[in-house]
Amino acid sequence: MKTICNPAAMQRQAQRWKREGERVALVPTMGALHAGHVSLIPRARKAAGVNGIVVVSIYVNPTQFNVAKDLRSYPRPLAADKKLCYAEGVDVVFAPKSLYENDASTTINETVVSLGMEGESRQGHFRGVGTVVVKLFNLVLPTSAIFGEKDWQQASLIRRVTRDLNLPTRIIIGPTVREADGLACSSRNVFLNKSERQQAAALWQAIGLARAAVHNGNLRGLKRRLIHSIEQQPAAKVDYVEFFDEKMMRPVKPMKGARMALAVFIGKTRLIDNARL
Ligand code: AMP
Repeated sequence: MKTICNPAAMQRQAQRWKREGERVALVPTMGALHAGHVSLIPRARKAAGVNGIVVVSIYVNPTQFNVAKDLRSYPRPLAADKKLCYAEGVDVVFAPKSLYENDASTTINETVVSLGMEGESRQGHFRGVGTVVVKLFNLVLPTSAIFGEKDWQQASLIRRVTRDLNLPTRIIIGPTVREADGLACSSRNVFLNKSERQQAAALWQAIGLARAAVHNGNLRGLKRRLIHSIEQQPAAKVDYVEFFDEKMMRPVKPMKGARMALAVFIGKTRLIDNARL
């Protein structure tokens, strides 16, 4: 396994792969790798083929953070991440220190799927995500790129940007990996103390309640009931619960086939989750 830190060196390597006709699959991450990230690596291997190249990028992208403290405190265990990548058969870890010119003035601005939910709660977040993904694609020149369903709105944004800008990369979405109690694996889970960690199961429980309500047709005041049930946990404060059509992200009534997403503060840690109802 090779580690490349220099963006120009990464691009030169990618251009060599392209000339040699290699298939390249990229798993973009911000590091602090967990079982959710790791589940995307076999998908990348499948897309690249046994002789292809699997690249995991590890970069805590500053432009997608709207809270400076969140960026500062984001975990960065690079040595452990590299070990994990090696064990999973990754070919190249791309771990740049910085990806931006000091006076960079160009961004990707998607204007449909990125407006609500995470886009509304975290102003500028998706501009940062779209921009860094296009930069990573231009540096790694991947044939395919793998993203997680855990960040559904992000995955939708990336599909859109790829389509709208004719990027020659196939987007693959892997299912959400969960802990035994249903909590979605996240790099932010390490910030939860023991009590908060137990309370964090409320997100997945709310998805279960919503699914049961849709199944039973018991939809009156569902959003209010879900918020109430989550906030029974003393450390929980709901940011949003939304039901939406999973392609366009437009709000819809809760129903079978709609998707539900939620963001909840457990203490100071903001967690998100989503699933189809
Ligand atoms: P992040 O490091 O949080 O930017 O995540 C990198 C990639 O891993 C994104 O495509 C995420 O959607 C995906 N991911 C994060 N958590 C999970 C999870 N629990 N299950 C599956 N994929 C995930």
